Amino acid sequence: MSEAVITEPNTGDIVRCDACPVLCRIRCGKVGACDRYANRDGELIRLDPLVVTEHAIERDGELVPFLDAAADWDGKLVAEPPVFVTGIGSGTTYPDYKPAPFIVATEWQGVDTVTVVTEGIFSYCGAKVKIDTDRHLGPEQAAIRVDGEPVGHVTTAEYGSQMLSLGGVRHLTGGSKREGTVTCATLLALCNGEAVDLTIDGGSTVTVQAGKAPVVDGEREERMRVGCGSATIGIFAKQWIGHADEVIVVDDHITGVLSEHQAGRFLDMRPAGIRVRGRKSTPGRYFQVAEPGSGWGGTDVTDPLAIIDRIDSRTAWPGERVLMVSTTGEDSAYFELDGDLRPVPMPMPAPLQVVVDRIAENCEPALCTVLFMGGAGGSLRAGVTENPVRLTRSVQDMITRVTCGGAPAYVWPGGGITLMADVTRLPANAFGYVPTPALVAPIEFTLPRAAYEQLGGHMASIRDLNAVLAQHPELRREPGRPGNPWPYDPPGDPKRRP
Ligand code: SF4
Repeated sequence: MSEAVITEPNTGDIVRCDACPVLCRIRCGKVGACDRYANRDGELIRLDPLVVTEHAIERDGELVPFLDAAADWDGKLVAEPPVFVTGIGSGTTYPDYKPAPFIVATEWQGVDTVTVVTEGIFSYCGAKVKIDTDRHLGPEQAAIRVDGEPVGHVTTAEYGSQMLSLGGVRHLTGGSKREGTVTCATLLALCNGEAVDLTIDGGSTVTVQAGKAPVVDGEREERMRVGCGSATIGIFAKQWIGHADEVIVVDDHITGVLSEHQAGRFLDMRPAGIRVRGRKSTPGRYFQVAEPGSGWGGTDVTDPLAIIDRIDSRTAWPGERVLMVSTTGEDSAYFELDGDLRPVPMPMPAPLQVVVDRIAENCEPALCTVLFMGGAGGSLRAGVTENPVRLTRSVQDMITRVTCGGAPAYVWPGGGITLMADVTRLPANAFGYVPTPALVAPIEFTLPRAAYEQLGGHMASIRDLNAVLAQHPELRREPGRPGNPWPYDPPGDPKRRP
């Protein structure tokens, strides 16, 4: 809850909130069902302050105000420092044919610019979660549960990461009321940067928090793998030559065998006669050497010798030096073949330890990434323009920049305005909810004033930025996030990050 805790006595006056379809009747001194609106002395108020971000740039690792860094900018007509009104705390207009709560005019670098600001109610929304680990979290398509309710599913793994798809309209509204409520609460917590325990059917329990390391079955994941087993061979092959006769990189995706691999052949390695289990894809690259799991390289292997199918006495030789290592360097073992060609564990030679350590050094820190995903293609657009399809076209043509709380949004090609935003790039607690259930997310559309007029914008509702700032002395100022493009810059500006 915001600073505006309502303490006035209940006078019996009731106001009706029409900011969402729930249409709460709120008694004096009380808040609505979403905790966002309240009745203060018979007046409906938005509890959280409007948030504006200040333009800053990074210099010597520190954020400095834009004006300090841009001496040639004259600043006229723009509040100082230049600020951007975000949708956070702006309120919602429902039904959407009403103009958005804020339609703000300013001048940016000589261009008259308009930003349409609102808090969108997203019935179609969810989160795409990337978890940097090669551990097996659960089978593809397995249900993901919170408090026993299905809130999403495991989707296709990506390179070094497991992917989860959470929320979506079917969980929010297509199941039981409890399923919808739990799904909405899960999305809200994740999008606001809180930690959530997700339990995967037939798999692990993962603690997910945006921008933090995942915790899998109580163990914090430290490293993202350097690559698959074959890639690891390709990266480090040369550094093993002369120190090992065979290197096997254990990986659930592709296990690499150095002497057979193209890299080993290129370096004139002698065939070493060790055949691993699984299905051979191409020379030195094997699929399915074991079951997926939490052991070596995302397999269920705890004893690496378990993946050796046979050792060919015609090719292998006594004294052969064999390194086995995982794709993160977390697990490694060194063996030498005895007179009967049996692998005997031996202390790791120092030159091989150096390369094992280098594999670990090349692994990036394991993180959870949470992308909010929502569809703004519906009636929300009517708060921007009387002719919504023109807004969609303007966004697709990169005339209108879409941001969420000032953070960049990726807009999918094709119809509608289907967007994704990294929740760590928004100000804190940017998301809310309504009990329909749906998420409430800030969204802003910024475009040249002339273009806004052309697409049928609500020109009579435009307010000057300075006037908005003056009317909202309670607003919260946040420094712009490092790396976020400044929303007033045109979408095609090469300076901006995508
Ligand atoms: S749930 Fe919130 S936004 Fe919706 S009507 Fe009630 S107070 Fe207003």
